[in-house]
Amino acid sequence: MSVLEVRDLTVDYRQRGGGGFRAVSHCSFAIARGETLALVGESGSGKSTVVRTVGRLLRPAGGEVLLDGKPAGRRGAALRAYRRRVQLIFQDPFASLNPMHTVRHHLARPILMLHPGHSRARLDADVHELLRSVNLTPAGEIARSRPHELSGGQRQRVAIARALASGPEVLLADEPVSMLDTSIRLEILNLLDRLKRERNLALLYVTHDLATARHFSSRIMVMYRGEIVEQGPADEVILRPAHPYTQLLAAAAPDPGASRESLAQARRLRQEARRDAAAERREVLLDAGCRFRLRCPHAMEACAGSPPEAQLGGGHSARCWLYAQLTVTGGSSAPGG
Ligand code: SF4
Repeated sequence: MSVLEVRDLTVDYRQRGGGGFRAVSHCSFAIARGETLALVGESGSGKSTVVRTVGRLLRPAGGEVLLDGKPAGRRGAALRAYRRRVQLIFQDPFASLNPMHTVRHHLARPILMLHPGHSRARLDADVHELLRSVNLTPAGEIARSRPHELSGGQRQRVAIARALASGPEVLLADEPVSMLDTSIRLEILNLLDRLKRERNLALLYVTHDLATARHFSSRIMVMYRGEIVEQGPADEVILRPAHPYTQLLAAAAPDPGASRESLAQARRLRQEARRDAAAERREVLLDAGCRFRLRCPHAMEACAGSPPEAQLGGGHSARCWLYAQLTVTGGSSAPGG
């Protein structure tokens, strides 16, 4: 059974001087305990807005968030209880840790909220245990440090330990390794994976990296301009991408065994995708129809209308007119992959 369920989440941003835009549109998903669900998309696709809204840092314009089947608290004690059970990990560990305070202070606060009667010795023991659980040793020395005395990877481990301090059931990890050196990204992702298994956590892993999404997640959702355009089992989505946007992402993703020519081709595709996205942002906002149609090589007349969600079989679905015939009957073909 799902521990976290998001139904029809919609988030609008107001702009200074009037007007605004829809950052997230009718987004729905669910995560079970012990599962990693990846949310993939380019920067500006709305991924972080989803995380911040589910984490109750932003107020949605519509939709609901359920924890164990019950609506998430919006204020007061209900909100505090929700935040204890659903914790966020941000991409910049330095910005998320107050440089004035020691690591011990950062970890002791959430523990004390949960156990206000803890003695100093018991608090220290819990802090050290948390640090050891994220492989930060010697724990006593690390606990006395301030964030600027640690490396980027160590700071992110502290941020993860802090998220664990309140005993959460759900972790929302927003690009947790994108600001770290390549050499330690895998270590941090392996750490999150281990903690998820040991503590039976539900993990929402937000990333723009298809390769790690496939490796660390059982399911993948692909987001484009505020909409989930494709979702399904990780291998299905990566190996047989159905939506033209996912196909573009998959073609642009570096393959470790790729030849020099294909890496150059992938670089060209990524540059083109960035140029296209920038050009598109300058276009009048599309308020109807497929949001990808200005970039889509398969765009047709029907794409001016809102695309249906087609069921491709095995829990794999895509929101695209190319599969309109599968919307009701189901099926498994994915042309153009
Ligand atoms: Fe392309 Fe149309 Fe599918 Fe959108 S709905 S991705 S424009 S084919």
